[in-house]
Amino acid sequence: MDRIMFSEPFHAGNELAYVEAALKSTVWHGDGPFTDRATRWLVERTGTRHALLTTSCTHALELASLLLELEPGDEVICPSFTFSSTATAIAVRGAVPVFVDVDEQTLNIDPSCVEAAVTDRTKAIYIVHYGGIACDLPALQAIADRHGLSIVEDNAHSLGAYYRGQHLGTFGTFGTQSWHDTKNVTSGEGGALLINDDRYAERAEIIREKGTNRSRFLRGQVDKYTWVDQGSSYLPSDLLAALLVAQLERFDDIQERRHAVWSSYHENLRGWASDGGVQLMTVPDGCEHPAHLYFVTMPSHEHQLGLIEHLKERDIVATFHYQPLDSSVAGLRLGRTPAPCTVTADRALRIVRLPLHAGMSAADTERVVAAVSEYPTR
Ligand SMILES: *Cc1c(COP(=O)(O)O)cnc(C)c1O
Repeated sequence: MDRIMFSEPFHAGNELAYVEAALKSTVWHGDGPFTDRATRWLVERTGTRHALLTTSCTHALELASLLLELEPGDEVICPSFTFSSTATAIAVRGAVPVFVDVDEQTLNIDPSCVEAAVTDRTKAIYIVHYGGIACDLPALQAIADRHGLSIVEDNAHSLGAYYRGQHLGTFGTFGTQSWHDTKNVTSGEGGALLINDDRYAERAEIIREKGTNRSRFLRGQVDKYTWVDQGSSYLPSDLLAALLVAQLERFDDIQERRHAVWSSYHENLRGWASDGGVQLMTVPDGCEHPAHLYFVTMPSHEHQLGLIEHLKERDIVATFHYQPLDSSVAGLRLGRTPAPCTVTADRALRIVRLPLHAGMSAADTERVVAAVSEYPTR
């Protein structure tokens, strides 16, 4: 019996052909024809105003922090339950990530905790739609409006996810995507910045291009290019964009495959869960999720470790998820935590994520369901 991996990149089909085409062309640098195709796909799919490919989601978040002009002493509220990138992109500007707790059902940032954490130094809220299930966007938007804050959506889980029909990543000032190979669509490493406010479009282009107006020069809008602003080098090679285009053009197929696994877990584990005091995922009204991950909430930490070990013995790789940022080494040094993040601390010790990738067969999924169902929780 083969090992069922927790996650692995899906071979969509045209990766090799497109990378070869890019290699045979004269454009190996960024912003070539494949970048153009990927960017247009993103704009059309998500409905964002502008999109820019970046070297990672972390870099897209850093770009957002530069565009929002975060400065030392500024505060940005973010969930404790997230990947380190959300917080490092704040801290790298010298600003303070302010960690707040998450909702018990969705593990998304809790708006009441956000409201309580706002001070006169707060500049923005960086949110994560966990598993691509939308945060409480109306509540967060109301808080942002009341206090004049920007919202940045760390949208790494959420390509193909919607709230009331609108694509996630297009609600905040910026949304950030990831093409890391654990995500639904991948170029190994990579990301994108979605820009939902026209006022930032030109400066974003400049910051991404080492602080130069090279993009305007390439479009023939200025006759030479020069250093005009702050910046860094956030644009990926067109070779990577070629890989990405091969994935994006099979996106609907990838999603169908992932949804089949997700739905099978959700339907077939119901009896086991209710018998054993295990909680399955909840999808609130208005949320269309992208089958990015499937987690179960075990009754205790022992059961979390127990289920992971039980599956490992059956050659199935399952895993826990984020460890609280507020109590992490860097979080303690660089962040601020106005109130204990008790849900984050608790769920870090209780959730188990099951294998989920587009390469899983129906038989693989059944094998996981059967193995999980054998694990006694009482
Ligand atoms: C994967 C992930 C990131 C990091 O993405 P990179 O492209 O590897 O920088 C950031 N935030 C969240 C929520 C993620 O899941």
